[in-house]
Amino acid sequence: MPSRALDWIPGELAALEARGLRRRLEPMGTAQGPVIGLSGHALVNLCSNDYLGLAADRRVERAAAEAARRYGAGAGAARLVVGDLLLHHELEERLARMKGTPSALLFSSGYHVNAGVVGALVGPGDAVFSDEWNHASIIDGCRLSRADVHVFRHRDVDGLASLLAASRARRKLVVTDAVFGMDGDAAPLVEIVELCERHGAMLYLDEAHSTGVLGATGSGLAEAMGVTDRVDVLMGTLGKALGSFGAFVAGSRELTDWLTCRARTFVFTTALPPASCGAAIAALDILATEPERRARLDVLSARMKAGLEALGFPMKAVVAPIFPVVLGEESRALEASRRLRERGFHVKAIRPPTVPAGTSRLRVSLTASHTPDQVDGFLAALKDVL
Ligand SMILES: *Cc1c(COP(=O)(O)O)cnc(C)c1O
Repeated sequence: MPSRALDWIPGELAALEARGLRRRLEPMGTAQGPVIGLSGHALVNLCSNDYLGLAADRRVERAAAEAARRYGAGAGAARLVVGDLLLHHELEERLARMKGTPSALLFSSGYHVNAGVVGALVGPGDAVFSDEWNHASIIDGCRLSRADVHVFRHRDVDGLASLLAASRARRKLVVTDAVFGMDGDAAPLVEIVELCERHGAMLYLDEAHSTGVLGATGSGLAEAMGVTDRVDVLMGTLGKALGSFGAFVAGSRELTDWLTCRARTFVFTTALPPASCGAAIAALDILATEPERRARLDVLSARMKAGLEALGFPMKAVVAPIFPVVLGEESRALEASRRLRERGFHVKAIRPPTVPAGTSRLRVSLTASHTPDQVDGFLAALKDVL
């Protein structure tokens, strides 16, 4: 007889269902791309983070396969044990060059970076200052650090300034998303850099959605704002625009040396698999040699923004290929998502706790592989559904 100790779960799941908050998996039968196969239907995919369309690029796939053939399917151990490959160092050098920093250190995912790096920089007696809309992994990293956590209002520079001025903490760390993943807007980075310098605070920037997308060479928001050498900790992921899997911290050699010793989510986990590293290196080559991908994405994004604005959705703050169609109630977002799907468009409803209560939405995202016709078709379908 199985234990009855889990008998509370069905009731809780039913309660989630009743509140429109139940989440379910739905497997795809195809690779990531502008059109995917879901439950036997071909749907235009408007919710991936594969912004440059590299996840299923033939060259990236081939590089993944070649790395696996040469180094095996798995790294077999943590980096500090016997999982450290020449390939990891090659990728770290490439990432540091792309970010314009002296050094970079790979992690298994963006979640690992945020969950472990905050706690390697601050602890009890220190203070961390975090934008209220930061990614869940940053929230968890702040909690795990056991530093005092001060949450400031979204993009509120004055609020952050008063919190910093009032703090007597030994060390201070300001942490913010560069681009906020559910809204597509950007942190007021230059103002935050200046505040951190004035108050002697470390600055930690999460470039998960901006790496490969923003800046003259696609390095990210810090490049776009010209402040790369004034950000202490630059975090980026390989699983979004770079089409692979994994993440990294870029910064000074001292920083990556310290994290190698003290970031628990680096020390106590298996190294990235070779295929992910090979894919990421190929993606970095494409990022450097095919700027037209980002140009195409910009043109498509402008078209999407104009169309959504015409439907009454404010897009002024949007700087990345992420477009929030805020509908309010969970049921409204779910219904819109369902009816769009009947018209051939896959756009997930985003609900609490991913976004604040009462702001459930369709989070529409684009990639360089979409076509203008797909954007226009979606806008027409959305108008119809609304
Ligand atoms: C996706 C994301 C992460 C997590 O990265 P993974 O590599 O998917 O674990 C962290 N921060 C932000 C802002 C993200 O959007």
